[in-house]
Amino acid sequence: MNKIKIKEHLSPESYKLITSAAKTAEEMGYSLFLVGGPVRDILLNKAENMKDIDLALEGDTKSFIKVFQDKISYKKLITHEKFNTASFEINSNLHIDIAMCRTEIYPQPAMLPVIEKSDISDDLGRRDFSINAMAIRLTGKNKGELLDPFEGQKDLSNRVISVLHQNSFIDDPTRLYRAIRYQTRLGFNFDIATFRLFLRGKINLSLLTPERIRYELECMLKEPDFKNVLSMANKFELFDMLGFDDTGIEYLNKLKSCDFETGLCALCANMDKDNISQLHEKLNLPKSTSKLAEEVNAIMHLKTSRIPSRIYETLSGYSVKAIGISSQLASGELKRMLNFYSGKISKIKPLISSNDLKKAGIRQSAKFGKMLADLYMLQLDGKISDKADAMDKIRDLK
Ligand code: ATP
Repeated sequence: MNKIKIKEHLSPESYKLITSAAKTAEEMGYSLFLVGGPVRDILLNKAENMKDIDLALEGDTKSFIKVFQDKISYKKLITHEKFNTASFEINSNLHIDIAMCRTEIYPQPAMLPVIEKSDISDDLGRRDFSINAMAIRLTGKNKGELLDPFEGQKDLSNRVISVLHQNSFIDDPTRLYRAIRYQTRLGFNFDIATFRLFLRGKINLSLLTPERIRYELECMLKEPDFKNVLSMANKFELFDMLGFDDTGIEYLNKLKSCDFETGLCALCANMDKDNISQLHEKLNLPKSTSKLAEEVNAIMHLKTSRIPSRIYETLSGYSVKAIGISSQLASGELKRMLNFYSGKISKIKPLISSNDLKKAGIRQSAKFGKMLADLYMLQLDGKISDKADAMDKIRDLK
């Protein structure tokens, strides 16, 4: 029997939590397993900074969680009764997810599966790739036993991504995105059969809901090597429905770090207007995110100028966030203009306020706002340098 000493691979905090969960399960007569990503990363010797501990339980999850939650300290607990899962946020760097062992049936391709309570063997059989379909037994006398029904360990040493069955990508096309993420992150290849199935599975991409595509894009943009992940996904046409092109990928290369909104803005920076307005629906984006992407796209197409008042007029209607993202993406004159605006122009306070105008005896009228704006433009262009200068100009403008 292949036994793994998990203590050697984990942080003391993770080990303590897992031991506590295992003890709870044993006391309740249940079997508990470490599954998926953590097992893969332990075997790759990359688990010391593990952020997600995934546990699978053969037993009643609800009763288990009731007992377990009193034994640990955590910040937040989210439970999904329907799926019999619970997620403990221990701190911002560590989560424990506990799920009932289950089997999954796909009523139709690309739909969420119907689940049924089952054992660890079925639970491993429902997974995406062999390297993610291993478990380590945490309870009973065979504690530490590696369960590897699909030769995941062999695939890890051969550095290949293999699906568990022919219909894997057809059943769940989100696995196409997952495959690219693991392939790039781990530097693995597809095995030949999996590669053929991958290409065939693309046919069902169009069946995915906007939310699921958005989630996969979010996961990709969170990867440390998000540029290569997106570049690979684009090469395999996984985002053709969104209209991402090579220029969008090149823009990603300009970002040092990324979050979903910033990455999305980069990918859309060169799109045409129609395409970008469709993204709102295609990804079911929050309004604020669509607006940000539209703003960045517009900024990236602006005419440049070196005249401060012109720069102010061009950029003052855009949000600080959009300007910040655009300046990361831009180059040449546009970058110069954006940096000049954020670093200098936007910080210049008007010399003259509306109170000053009132004091100068100018009655509030339609001209009032325009006058203030004109004065400010003159100030930005260095044509007035102090308040006295400005008051002289008011007489000219009146
Ligand atoms: P990561 O390091 O990216 O977090 P992970 O393996 O922990 O990797 P999760 O997305 O947290 O990835 O999923 C946990 C486990 O659930 C996976 O290892 C895999 O076994 C299984 N899984 C997740 N999504 C799917 C899917 N779409 N199809 C089949 N199995 C999946």
